[in-house]
Amino acid sequence: MARAKSCSFCGSTTNVLVTGANGVAICSECIDQCEKILHGAAKGEGQTSAQGEENADLQTIPTPKELYDYMNEYVVGQLDAKRVLAVAVYNHYKRVKYFQDNPGSEIEMDKSNILMVGPTGTGKTLLARTLARKLSVPFAIADATTLTEAGYVGEDVENILLKLIQAAGDDITKAEHGIIFIDEIDKIAKKGENISITRDVSGEGVQQALLKIIEGSIASVPPQGGRKHPNQEMLRIDTKNILFICGGAFVGLDKLIEKRLSTSSMGFGADIEDKKVKNLAYLYKNMLPDDLIKFGLIPEFIGRLPVHVGLNSLTKSDLKRIITEPKNSIIKQYEQSMLIDGVTLDFLPEAVDAVADTADKQDTGARGIRSIVENVMLDIMFDVPSRKDVAKVVVDAECITGTKRPVLLDKDGHELSLEE
Ligand code: ADP
Repeated sequence: MARAKSCSFCGSTTNVLVTGANGVAICSECIDQCEKILHGAAKGEGQTSAQGEENADLQTIPTPKELYDYMNEYVVGQLDAKRVLAVAVYNHYKRVKYFQDNPGSEIEMDKSNILMVGPTGTGKTLLARTLARKLSVPFAIADATTLTEAGYVGEDVENILLKLIQAAGDDITKAEHGIIFIDEIDKIAKKGENISITRDVSGEGVQQALLKIIEGSIASVPPQGGRKHPNQEMLRIDTKNILFICGGAFVGLDKLIEKRLSTSSMGFGADIEDKKVKNLAYLYKNMLPDDLIKFGLIPEFIGRLPVHVGLNSLTKSDLKRIITEPKNSIIKQYEQSMLIDGVTLDFLPEAVDAVADTADKQDTGARGIRSIVENVMLDIMFDVPSRKDVAKVVVDAECITGTKRPVLLDKDGHELSLEE
């Protein structure tokens, strides 16, 4: 075997060489390079980020159009929401990058946190998650219902920051450019005037506590979560560049807007308005801070969420598209998974129709789709991997309604039975 005389990576013949099996060698300079790359990867920076750079992924911010197109690959419908989100998210990261590149700049640019309003299961979380993926920034989901004012049973609001730090692989600098989605934000609406005999620790109190971190401040986070206590070492994180997206179903808000619109459009033009008023997207488009105040959000809190996005409820045809169209649609995932076992899945259009119909009746948006399909596929996924005779599985509408089990076929098209 020939002994290496040059580095197999850069060709250098002058540096110190470490030789390995089969005549390969690496020089001292390439070892240094490798160490830098591996060090970066361990910190979660990826191969291309040079040492000392604050956040390599902010070097290229996707344009609103690119963000919009990316969301279209994964999220069905909600076109208005996608446009507003694409612009708001682009502006946010443009602002972050500008101040990163021009520290000390006197220009003022407000932070554009986002409030998403729409029925459950219509894609609020999915949109936020998809955006974070496109931007390659850390992403965390928090649930507003578990939060309470400091000193009461429940979670301190700072714990939502801990989730983001964990999502960033404990890299606080990275977390400081992340996105936090706070779900169920409508649940921290002020309780009605009449029940204010006791302190409203999970409503107005939490809104007050959230104000600061949403707006931007240096927060202290207990590294183990839970309640803060004195003498504890704290993680310090600056929230001024974290994008907060708050989402909620705000049940009843549409009625408040509708009422306001129908009184203000009395008389001339009232007929035309009346038809539009039925459309949820139209209502949310006309949402004013006053409506949110009536719902129970405090004005200061609304002021920190200047971008409002309304999501429409999903029609049956949207649900059908969700089952098949997105890049990672549930049917595509099952097809792929079965293909690995050498089996073709034929999920007939009539079955897709039946799934959409059942999900529509459940009235939880697209939430029900996964469990409906999983229920039908469970026996197949259990049985097929241990068999060699199955070449194809056919799922039709009756399998969804529960009157029949999926049909198994061998490579010649003969029907096989599903084992119990
Ligand atoms: P919510 O509006 O309650 O936050 P989610 O975004 O969590 O709803 O959606 C629940 C599930 O339904 C998601 O996992 C997603 O697969 C699916 N889904 C909901 N809306 C859409 C949509 N518009 N396009 C594609 N999938 C959707």
